[in-house]
Formats: sequence, C-alpha cells, structure tokens
Amino acid sequence: KQFDGITNQHVRELDKRHVFHSWSAQAKLDPLAFASGAGCLLWDYEGREYLDFSSQLINTNVGHQHPRVVRAIQEQAAQLCTIAPAAANLARGEAAQRILARAPRGFEKVFFTNGGADANENAIRMARQVTGRDKVLSAYRSYHGNTGAAIVATGDPRRVPNEYARGHVHFFNPYLYRSEFHARDEDEECERALRHLRRVIECEGGGAIAAILLESVPGTAGVLVPPRDYLKGVRALADEFGALLIMDEVMVGFGRTGAWFAFEHFDVTPDLITFAKGVNSGYVPAGGVIVPERICAYFAERVFPGGLTYSGHPLAMAAIVATLDAMQEEDMVGNAQRIGRDVLGPGLRALGARHAAIGEVRGMGLFWALELVANADTRAPISATHAAAIKAECLARGLLAFFVENRVHVAPPCLVTAQQVDDALSRLDDAFTAVFGSATG
Ligand code: PLP
Repeated sequence: KQFDGITNQHVRELDKRHVFHSWSAQAKLDPLAFASGAGCLLWDYEGREYLDFSSQLINTNVGHQHPRVVRAIQEQAAQLCTIAPAAANLARGEAAQRILARAPRGFEKVFFTNGGADANENAIRMARQVTGRDKVLSAYRSYHGNTGAAIVATGDPRRVPNEYARGHVHFFNPYLYRSEFHARDEDEECERALRHLRRVIECEGGGAIAAILLESVPGTAGVLVPPRDYLKGVRALADEFGALLIMDEVMVGFGRTGAWFAFEHFDVTPDLITFAKGVNSGYVPAGGVIVPERICAYFAERVFPGGLTYSGHPLAMAAIVATLDAMQEEDMVGNAQRIGRDVLGPGLRALGARHAAIGEVRGMGLFWALELVANADTRAPISATHAAAIKAECLARGLLAFFVENRVHVAPPCLVTAQQVDDALSRLDDAFTAVFGSATG
C-alpha cells in the first residue's frame, strides 16, 4: 500500500512540529506513523505492515476498519452528524438499548460521555449526590482517566502532579506477585487486602464514604486479575457501610476478558458501571455510565447536575450499535474467551517458561501482561534500558504491544485468529532472545 507518495518522514515531522502529546516531554517524542488498517493489521505510509497486539490503547476490540462499523458511521454522517443531547435520536436510543441488554438486571439507563475519564467523573458525581457523602475510595494500582476527580481517583503516580480534587482516599488492591500484605497465596492476599480495606473505611469514617471505585481487573496497573473472592468481599464492605460500588469497565468491558463485562467472572453486581473504549472500539470517542433503576428513580424529580455538548453524539452512537451487533453476530466475545484460554494464555505461559526475564504471566481472555524481572528471586524489575530494548525489538519485528514500565501488555482485537496469535508469540520469542539471549526449553 502506498499513499500518493506521502512518506512516513513527512508525517512524523509534521506531528513533531505541531502536535502537543499526552504524558510526554515534548522534545523526546518519536512517534510511528500509521496510515490505514484492517482487523489486527496496520500499515504505515510506505506500506510496512504491523501486527497490532495492543488494540491501540486497548480499545479496538473489533479490530481496525471493521466494515460494518465504518458503514454505520458513514450512513449516520450522511443522515445527521450531530444533534444536541436533549433531543431524542434513533442511534442514541438504540445504543443505550444495546448496552443495557448486556448489563445485569436492574440497570435501566445510560448516561453518555465523551470517554472513560468523564464516565468516572459522572459516576462519582452520581454517587455523591445519591449518598449525600463526599469521600471516594479507590486503589493505588489503578488508572481512571485524566480529568478533575478521575485523575485524583487514579492511584498511579500520574495522580501526584494533578491532585486538585478533594475527598479522595486510596487503598492497596491485591497483587500477589508484589504483595503489600506479605501474603503467600491468593487466599491470604484476598483476606488481608479485604481486612486492609475495612480498616481504611473505618479510619476514614464509614458514614463518610460515597463510593468505592475499582477497575474490575486493573489494566494499566498491570492486568492484576483479582483473587476469586476479592470483588465479592468489596461488594459486601460497600453494602455494610452504605457506599456505592462503581466498577470501571473502561478497559475491560465489551469482550476484552472473554465476557461482555469483566465483573461477570467474579459473581458481583456493581451499583454503577463506567465504560468507554471497547463499546465502539474507539472509532468515534464515547463513554458512559450505566445507571440502575434506584439511581434513575433518585433523579426522577431531582435535576442531575451534569452534562456535555457531545453526550450521545450520533456518530459515536451509530458506531456503538454496529460494534455491538458485529461482536454479537461474529461471536467475538466467545472468540476472546476461547483464544485466550486455548492459545494466547498457554502460549504466553510457555514463553514465560522459556525466558528467565519473564517473572510472571497474568491475564484472562485477550487481556494479558508479562511482568519482566532482572532477577527471578528478588523480582527486581528489569531496567528502563531493557524495557526500551524489548519495545524496540518488538517494533523491529512489526509487533505492537502495550508497553508499561517493566511490563509488556498483550491485548489483540477480539477477532484475532489462532494463527495471528502464533505469529505474535514467535515475534515476541525472538524479541526476548535478541535482548536477553537464547531461551531455555
Ligand atoms: N478507566 C480505565 C480503566 C482506563 O484504562 C482508562 C484509559 O485508559 C480510563 C478510565 C480513561 O479513559 P479515557 O482515556 O477515555 O478518558
């Protein structure tokens, strides 16, 4: 594929000169250029092909350029590009209906936002309004977005230069590989993490907590699949102290873990669900809050004090309808579950057994992380130089993954094939060998 003689160099120079980038020192950027894609593949302007096992920021669950979603956006654009949120519009109603059909019983309406951060922002607002309380508890190992309350609810260090919202308190969530609780096994980690959360609630004042906000499976923090009973324990604590449980499904919702929602694996029902990314694979920005009957009833006669110009944007809504229909008809959630269980999970574990630098392999469905260590006994993370080298070796082999600190997150689109997974595993294997030397076994 060629794009009328446009070079990667031209696109990169234009970007470097004029685009101000997220979370970056601007002089240190060296962005790759991409021109088009299809499914799990991407091409740059000079026709070089990449296998996308990052799903970008873990959002293109139906892959790139799904024809049905592209067509739905084109048709909606031809009919009506935009309409104010106060109006009724078919795409908006159908998008809400499609989302609610996949939510647990008792959820009644959807409040649409522009993305994940403002979904959390508004879920927090609802919880504060409904409970009349102020404090929001969330985990240190979390990412909830980059707006006022969402970035302060976030636990990772990006919170620290942004702490201008009040009422946020953090606690340690379970992470057995680097246990804060000196736990030796998953049951112990679960029990101690819940005891710690209870103490945090008691010390902050049980009657002061509006909400506990948690990613069902913390994503950017390292794909930290919680112990089997942890979320049930959090649910019980929220009930005991009268706080609402908000589950952030922004990264894990809509098929990523082999279920429509990740909390389904853990037998819990939250009070509020936030979503974005996978709901329409990011083709047009969208997110939202799924609201239960009880909270809809609270706002039946009271004004909800929040809103956005683009809440329920028709192009985003048309993309949601087409994305969820395509996922359903092509059984992408089943595919995510089967490929994760039978091919990607076992393949990554085998890779972990071959390379000493892989300290732990964690995940479910099509949502995995390799935790890389310099020393398997001390579990000291690999150096920043080695982390950069792994990324460079993957890119040199045309493989995109999601690289965070000392980890490689592997999260291909939900329509990935077994053959594409084998291909990615072999490129990863070569990248590890190039950086750390030959593998064993
Ligand atoms: N919540 C989670 C779990 C996320 O992973 C993200 C983004 O990565 C967000 C919220 C924020 O979403 P957005 O970047 O669309 O605002």
